[in-house]
Amino acid sequence: MDVDAGSLDAPGVGRIGESQLTSRLRAILSWPMSRERPTPVDPVQQLIRTHRGVHPHADISLLRRSYSVAERWHRDQKRKSGEPYITHPLQVAQILAELGMDTITLAAALLHDTVEDTAYTLPQLRADFGSEVALLVNGVTKFDKAHFALAEAESTRKMIVLAGQDIRVLVIKIADRLHNMETLDARSPASRARIAKATSEVLVPLCDRLGIQVLKAPFEDVVLRYVEPDAYKTIHETVERDRPQWNAYVKRIVDLGKESLRREKLDGRVIPRPRHYYTIWKDTKQAGSPRPINMPRVVVIIDGEEHDCYAALGAIHQRWLPIPGRFKDFIAAPKNNLYRSLHTTVLGPEDQMVEVLIRTEAMHRAVEYGVIARYRFPPKPGLFGKKNALPPEHTDMAWLKRALQIEAAAPDAVQFVQSLRCDLAEQQIQVFARGRPLLLPAGSTPVDVAYELSTRTGDRCVAATVNGVLTPLGAELHDGDVVDVLVSRDRNHPGPRPEWLEFVKSPTAQLRLSRRFSETDVPAGTVSDRLQIGRAAIGLALRRRDRALSDEQRLADLAQSLGFPDLDSLLIAVAEHRVRADVIVDQLIASVDASTDGGGIVTNPRRPAEPDRVKQHR
Ligand code: MN
Repeated sequence: MDVDAGSLDAPGVGRIGESQLTSRLRAILSWPMSRERPTPVDPVQQLIRTHRGVHPHADISLLRRSYSVAERWHRDQKRKSGEPYITHPLQVAQILAELGMDTITLAAALLHDTVEDTAYTLPQLRADFGSEVALLVNGVTKFDKAHFALAEAESTRKMIVLAGQDIRVLVIKIADRLHNMETLDARSPASRARIAKATSEVLVPLCDRLGIQVLKAPFEDVVLRYVEPDAYKTIHETVERDRPQWNAYVKRIVDLGKESLRREKLDGRVIPRPRHYYTIWKDTKQAGSPRPINMPRVVVIIDGEEHDCYAALGAIHQRWLPIPGRFKDFIAAPKNNLYRSLHTTVLGPEDQMVEVLIRTEAMHRAVEYGVIARYRFPPKPGLFGKKNALPPEHTDMAWLKRALQIEAAAPDAVQFVQSLRCDLAEQQIQVFARGRPLLLPAGSTPVDVAYELSTRTGDRCVAATVNGVLTPLGAELHDGDVVDVLVSRDRNHPGPRPEWLEFVKSPTAQLRLSRRFSETDVPAGTVSDRLQIGRAAIGLALRRRDRALSDEQRLADLAQSLGFPDLDSLLIAVAEHRVRADVIVDQLIASVDASTDGGGIVTNPRRPAEPDRVKQHR
């Protein structure tokens, strides 16, 4: 996703302008590092000012107390760079303050390394600061490596479990790592590259899953800086050199864009949207260009409803010619981490290509801040009205919930972390089942969907349709597929098949199946399975015609008239694709409709919502 670090100036919250946060994060991460920072007389002053800028009524005494306790315990410690240790928790808290996090988070950030690195204990911290701060600090405190052979895996597992209780655990961990990346300069190039790579494997995708673009972008940039230092340097120099022209050009676009909105009587703002270095690097590589490509970009933020975005798109396209094939509608079809915006590229003044993103204020907040939006913009009912409503929690917490499910199913911490890493490394697809969206690793199959719905559904699935077409259980799914899983109601259903282990992709399915087949050796009930599949295929074909079978006699009659010894032989033939279910069903309906009583087949009043409602006829 190509969204830059940025902030927004929404009504009712302190104004931290787009450029201010971006440049602040850039300053933290700028090349080359400046090691000297002026030491203010009151070290907490800047933190308090930033925090009050977003939350004017915040209780700052908690911040002062947290700082003084942390400072006392860390007093004799130094970082690898030689700085006093306390500069690290202070900078972590500063990053979080700029993101607009709440006072509790900042207090926990100031104290986040005390329990791990000093003699200060968690019970003591709980007594001094309360259980909320203690939970957050505990979440980022690693297990003692001397006592736990599996300290790293256990630490990660603990972090995820506690993040399930309070997402701020992860946010602090991410800010901690971001600041640690800054100070990597004190290490050898090899260890910098290794840490940068590890970060890009876990924490960058984590930011993406949690939708925190404001952290993901600086992370990507700092990783690029260590992994591709030459490319980073070239991009940095080019961007700095071209900045005056870039700014002047984008200002023209902003002014003309605003005029277009006014003409259509649309409320909203147009702001510059510089690409971050990582996206410039990606664009440049993709185009195979020798020079960095830094396409001008603006975002149109509409003060209105979803449909107003399309009106704004019309207004933009009326002024500038759209480049064919570059329009993307992530409002109608959100990206799998729920990114919502319209994207278009137009031919701007002087025949230069300009990218325009269009979204509502609410979408903008959700896109930029993801799970942390609720802290930056605490809901004030009745004050802002509906358009400022945050997305419901379940949408942006979906990934974390899944991580917790994986955790619950994993036999030990090492396997959990392995599954988690795979999950984060994989490209994701979004499919729909039982009317709800599911996020799965790319290459997932209907069996993965079944296990995502429930263990029972997975264990008992016998067939599936994808976009209405009967599809093998091991077939690869694609983004946007609609999947119907058919479940056996048979008491004697033999359960899952060991060969599923060869194709399932999701951690949920993998864990379940590997556990199952290490425990028991289930015989594969082939005939019974094939009967189920055949029956399900016929049930499905009937459903597609809005019909259902109320008794099996008609089908048995048809089987005989087609020359099958009995009904089961017909069902097995269907399952083995020797006869098509559609052909059978068409003949069945024809015979029923021709007869006077119409018996055996009923017309469905409406399509059943659940696939496992397909009738079992025994
Ligand atoms: Mn730390």
